[in-house]
Amino acid sequence: MEKTRVIKILQILSELYGHLGCALKFRTPFELLVATMLSAQTTDVTVNKATDILFKKYNKPQDFVNIPQSELEKYIRTCGFYKNKAKNIIAASRMIVEEYNGKVPDSLEELTKLPGVGRKTANVVLSNAFGKDAIAVDTHVFRVSNRIGLAKSEDVLKTEEQLMENIPKNMWSSAHHLLIWHGRNICTARNPKCLECPINELCDYYIKNKKS
Ligand code: SF4
Repeated sequence: MEKTRVIKILQILSELYGHLGCALKFRTPFELLVATMLSAQTTDVTVNKATDILFKKYNKPQDFVNIPQSELEKYIRTCGFYKNKAKNIIAASRMIVEEYNGKVPDSLEELTKLPGVGRKTANVVLSNAFGKDAIAVDTHVFRVSNRIGLAKSEDVLKTEEQLMENIPKNMWSSAHHLLIWHGRNICTARNPKCLECPINELCDYYIKNKKS
């Protein structure tokens, strides 16, 4: 897609939604890492409710190394897949303590070595906790960017690569938030509200369906 069209799309979305930040509540890179690990297959609101209580008592990697898994599970039960999430959070905390001196690493390569941390989680942490340019491809970003034509792939990794190619680097992080927000509000998974969408004339999906 031409750069001018990409920038126009992001400008319109930016005017619509304003400046967006991460919807997960956190005070440190470690808290964001835990919150993002918990956010798989659930909503940010559910995660925030759980971490509001959890982080009052446990909020450093060392705390999670010493916590019995069953104790952690009590705090995160509402987030779904809680046994697996608890296991990964404890294992990732141990690795942070043992290999990174208790500090969350700030590179994609190191973050994705942590148990239970994939590229999406790593990119969320890099972008929101460390202020680095990164595009995390979650379900909304994947769907919306492929509908618009910012990416053309059925593969998440390829979508991330194409987005990095098509979107200017200094807009990666804001594009991530804008696409999520657009996916939640207008470009919903079922029945996207194309007629009221302010970027419809720039969107491949709309243009194609309007013609057919
Ligand atoms: S026009 Fe429709 S498919 Fe395209 S971004 Fe807007 S809501 Fe999504």
